[in-house]
Amino acid sequence: MGHWVNNKAFPGTSGRAAAVTNPATGAVTREVALADVADSRAVIEAAAAAFPAWRDTSLAKRTAIVFRFRELLNQRKNELAEIITSEHGKVLSDALGEVTRGQEVVEFACGIPHLLKGDFSENASTAVDVHSARQPLGVVGVIAPFNFPAMVPMWFFPVAIAAGNTVVLKPSEKAPSAALWLAALWAEAGLPAGVFNVLQGDKTAVDELLSHRAVKAVSFVGSTPVAQYVYATGTANGKRVQALGGAKNHAVVLPDADLDLAADAMVNAGFGSAGERCMAISAVVAVGAVADELVTKIAERARTVRTGDGTRGCDMGPLVTAAHRDRVASYIDQAEQDGASLVVDGREVRADGGRDGFWLGPTVIDHVTTDMSCYTDEIFGPVLSVLRVDSYDEALELINSNPYGNGTAIFTNDGGAARRFYNEVEVGMVGINVPIPVPVAYYSFGGWKNSLFGDTHAHGTEGVHFFTRGKVVTSRWRAPSHGGLNLGFPQTV
Ligand code: NAD
Repeated sequence: MGHWVNNKAFPGTSGRAAAVTNPATGAVTREVALADVADSRAVIEAAAAAFPAWRDTSLAKRTAIVFRFRELLNQRKNELAEIITSEHGKVLSDALGEVTRGQEVVEFACGIPHLLKGDFSENASTAVDVHSARQPLGVVGVIAPFNFPAMVPMWFFPVAIAAGNTVVLKPSEKAPSAALWLAALWAEAGLPAGVFNVLQGDKTAVDELLSHRAVKAVSFVGSTPVAQYVYATGTANGKRVQALGGAKNHAVVLPDADLDLAADAMVNAGFGSAGERCMAISAVVAVGAVADELVTKIAERARTVRTGDGTRGCDMGPLVTAAHRDRVASYIDQAEQDGASLVVDGREVRADGGRDGFWLGPTVIDHVTTDMSCYTDEIFGPVLSVLRVDSYDEALELINSNPYGNGTAIFTNDGGAARRFYNEVEVGMVGINVPIPVPVAYYSFGGWKNSLFGDTHAHGTEGVHFFTRGKVVTSRWRAPSHGGLNLGFPQTV
C-alpha cells in the first residue's frame, strides 16, 4: 500500500515499508510504504500545483463537492468502520461511532460559505468602503495518530478543503488504510486531482511537511513529545501549527453523585476503545466517603466487559500492537510493586479472539498516589487508577497540578459545585455528568497545557480561522460600473 496523489495511487520509490497488523489476530496483513524525501516532495508539490485552481473554484462548486462527499460517506461508512477495526482493533460499533463524529465535521464544512463571510463598512471615509475576507493558506499538512484513523483527519480536512486549501494527510503507519479509502471517496465525490493527497510514512515524511516551503500550516495530533517537536520545528520554519498532544483525564466523583451513573461512566470512558482515546478517563478521583462503594461498582461492571475481536460483537478490542500491550501491562506490574491495590487485573483476560491477538483486559487499580507511574504517565490502555481525596479542593488541586489538560469530568447532583468546577479547572474540555466531553463539530476541540501546543483548537470557528488568513480591503469608487443587461434569474456558478 502506498500514497495517493492526483486522485490515484502512487507507490513511491523509497523502497522503505512497515508492516501493518490486525491486532485481534496478531497477523501481518499488509505493508505500507514509508516515504523518503523525494516521495514527500512529489506529494506536497502535487498539492501545491492544485492550489490556485481550487482556491479560485467558487464556493457553490466547492460546497457541492463537500455535500457529495458527505452523502457517499454516510452511505458507505460501514466499509470504513471495518477498515478501522482491522488495523486499530476497536470494536465495529466504536469504529462506526468514530466515523459518525468525523462526518459531523464534514456537515459543518458544508456551511463554509456562511463561515467565510466577511464584514463590510460602507462610507468609512467619504466614498471609501472597507471590507474583510478570509482566504485559504495553500497546502496544509495533517499528521494523524493511530487511535482515530478516520475521525482525527476529519477534524481538519473537511474545513481545510471547503475553505479552499489543498491537503496532504500523513496517517499513522499503524493504521494507514482509512486515509486511502477517504481519498478514493473524495475522488468519487468529484474533488479535483491534487486537492486531497495521502503521504504514508514516518518521521522523514513529517520532517518534510515541517520544512517544505509550499506547506503553510500543519495540524498535528499525537503524543506530547512529538507534538512539542512538531510545534517547535514547524513554527521555527514559519508555519502555522496546531499540535494536539497526550492526556491524563480525571473524573471527579463528589459524595452526592449518583454512583451507578458514575460507575457506568467510568467503565465506558475508561475501557471504550481499550483506553486508547485521548479523551479516555484514566484517573478516577473519589471525594470523601464514596470511594469504597464506587470502586466496588466499577469493579463489578469492569468484570462484565467482554474483551475480544472487534468483529465479534465484543465490548472491547485488543491493544494496537504487542509492544504497546506489553508496555501497558508493565504499568500494572509496577503499580503492584508500588503498593497500589489491584482490584481487577486485565493481565488475566480470556479474550474472544485470536491466540496471538494483543489482549489486555479492563484493569482497576485502587489506592493510587500521585507519585506512582500509573498516575504520572499517559498509559493509553484499559487501566483505571483510583485516587482517594478528602475534599473538592484537593481534587481540583490534583487536576490543576497535572501537566496535561485535555478533558475532565465531574459527577455530582450539585449545580453550584459543577459550576465552580468548570470555572476553576485548568482543562480545555469539561464534562458535567458526561465522561467524554468531546465537543460537537460546531464547537472547537482542544486541550490546555501539554495537551495542545499553539493557540487554535480543531474544527468549529477556530478551525475555520486556522485554515484561513484575514484580509481587509479599503476601496474608493467614484463612478458607477456597468455590467450590461441580463434579465435571467441569478444563479450561483
Ligand atoms: P505518536 O506521537 O507516536 O504519532 C503521531 C504521528 O506522529 C504519527 O503520524 C507518527 O507517524 C508521527 N511520529 C511519530 N514519531 C515521530 C517523530 N519522532 N517525529 C515525527 N513524527 C513522528 O502518537 P500515536 O501513538 O500514534 O497516538 C497516540 C497519542 O496521540 C496519545 O498520546 C494520545 O493522547 C494522542 N492523541 C491526542 C489527541 C488529542 O486530541 N489531544 C487525539 C488523539 C490522540
